[in-house]
Amino acid sequence: MAKSVRGFKRKHDDDRHDTSFKSILDRYISLDQCGIVQVKYIWIDGTGEDMRGKTKTFDFIPQNVNELPIWNFDGTSTGQATGDESDVFLKPVAMFKDPFRPGPNKIVLCETLNKNYEPTSTNNRRKCLEVMIKAADQKPWFGMEQEYTLLDSDRWPYGWPRGGYPAPQGPYYCGVGADKVYGREIVEAHARACMYAGIKISGTNAETMPAQWEFQVGPCEGIDMGDQLWVARYILHRICEEFGVICSLDPKPVLGDWNGAGCHANFSTLKMRESGGYKYIDEAIVKLSEVHLEHIAYYDPHGGRDNERRLTGAHETETIDAFSSGVANRQCSIRIPKQCFDDQCGYLEDRRPSSNCDPYTVTSALVKTCCLTGRD
Ligand code: ADP
Ligand code: MN
Ligand code: MN
Ligand code: MN
Ligand code: MN
Repeated sequence: MAKSVRGFKRKHDDDRHDTSFKSILDRYISLDQCGIVQVKYIWIDGTGEDMRGKTKTFDFIPQNVNELPIWNFDGTSTGQATGDESDVFLKPVAMFKDPFRPGPNKIVLCETLNKNYEPTSTNNRRKCLEVMIKAADQKPWFGMEQEYTLLDSDRWPYGWPRGGYPAPQGPYYCGVGADKVYGREIVEAHARACMYAGIKISGTNAETMPAQWEFQVGPCEGIDMGDQLWVARYILHRICEEFGVICSLDPKPVLGDWNGAGCHANFSTLKMRESGGYKYIDEAIVKLSEVHLEHIAYYDPHGGRDNERRLTGAHETETIDAFSSGVANRQCSIRIPKQCFDDQCGYLEDRRPSSNCDPYTVTSALVKTCCLTGRD
């Protein structure tokens, strides 16, 4: 997969992606760890989109995230601090098995805290957790559909002709065949790695634009949605790195007649899921219609500017400034799955969140509007 781009070889690329490097690593990764455990602390950096990680070793196997200490990093190198006060704290919040280091090793998702142990500007988890605690009695569930685009090292979609385009959209969505899908190995590797880690990966599919894919995580309750999706994204970036391919979460990676990438948020409360719950789905949609533009501001990391390129009214989207809903309608802001209409209970699908959204911000906006408005 690590083909050289445009016919010339770059030494550095070849070294990093050489398959023999991976097989040599395999000899060491299977050595006895002698009671030492590696924990990869990962976090969201100052962009609010990219992730970072570094490793700490322990002489015990952590069973619970609370057993892991607060750590720190150089915030000046991640856009999270200034030189004179460079230390940013990492507080472990959710623990998973590490699929890259099989055995007792862990990946631990951390929130970032400033010198006074307050959340940094890209730590949206703290606010989300407060909202989820307030609404816990309503048991909010989410399932998020993460769309992403595989890019070659020159940032042109993986498998596309150099400097050109594949045939128009149509045969690619859920497609099979070497001329329909590019990069399936990555999708399969990611799904298995997520299963091993303990992520509730609920499905995968090839998307409408070739080299674009989707995975779903859920249903997850409350804060768990954001935690699981961020870790699933981290695992995806790591796997792509191994294949020598770039994973882009840009919501409109190619201009023109090509679908953008979203992160649909499926949402329900206990009442919506129970028999006759349809009226609560309707109620939620009315509430959402009243705060459309506020939600748009929360649905990408740039206050709606990323989604401006994607929510055009074409390519299975509603325009950015209009709000609409409909059963089985994929040109709407909110879609009610046909099955839920038939069952008269279930969940709704908010199609507006961008592929690079922060799931903490999206899920807390949904819960604030649908569960907490008019309650306190
Ligand atoms: P689409 O038809 O829009 O492509 P997908 O099958 O990709 O839908 O994704 C549906 C998502 O909805 C999954 O992540 C699933 O876990 C989630 N989901 C299913 N039931 C519920 C529910 N009651 N509440 C919230 N999310 C749910
Ligand atoms: Mn150092
Ligand atoms: Mn889907
Ligand atoms: Mn999709
Ligand atoms: Mn969807």
